[in-house]
Amino acid sequence: NTGDEKVDYVYKVVVIGDSAVGKTQVLSRFTRNEFCFDSKSTIGVEFQTRTLTIKSKVVKAQIWDTAGQERYRAVTSAYYRGALGAMLVYDITKRETFDHVARWVEELRDHTDNSIVIALIGNKADLEHKRAVPSIDAVEFAETQGLYFFETSALTGDNVETAFFKLLEEIYFVV
Ligand code: GDP
Ligand code: MG
Repeated sequence: NTGDEKVDYVYKVVVIGDSAVGKTQVLSRFTRNEFCFDSKSTIGVEFQTRTLTIKSKVVKAQIWDTAGQERYRAVTSAYYRGALGAMLVYDITKRETFDHVARWVEELRDHTDNSIVIALIGNKADLEHKRAVPSIDAVEFAETQGLYFFETSALTGDNVETAFFKLLEEIYFVV
């Protein structure tokens, strides 16, 4: 018995962004409440799931992770197919990962429905002393593009739940 008979909705969410920004760690923080310091031991699965309740409906979030396909245009259309939401992650300590965010938005728009809900995630917020991307830059970009914006730390867990819950709740309202 998997408990699947009780699931009201399954929402596919894709996690995208440059390599090493913390995509896999944000995901494992959300689905297993774990942070793995040796994250090169890649989990050989395409997605992880977590079941939660939104407005008294049981929602299974099926969250897809890239496995080294983060080069520009290397993510396949199969990865995006059917996605209702996206977590677009950059690293607040690496300016170029934020500079590439516009490209990722463009790639998302090319591969998904207009109704896709996107959250921009500035990860590694625990490394404030190394910050290279002022929050205001991301706030402004998110506003012009119609994205939600959160700064998170997969390491401490700060804001990870908040970001995913907001994304999933918005998907619930959209679909
Ligand atoms: P991915 O390539 O985007 O999937 O990135 P990973 O999840 O593999 O993380 C890349 C590196 O950043 C690893 O060394 C992680 O331990 C580290 N990392 C990920 N998230 C955080 C975070 O929130 N804070 C800090 N300090 N390091 C992080
Ligand atoms: Mg990864």
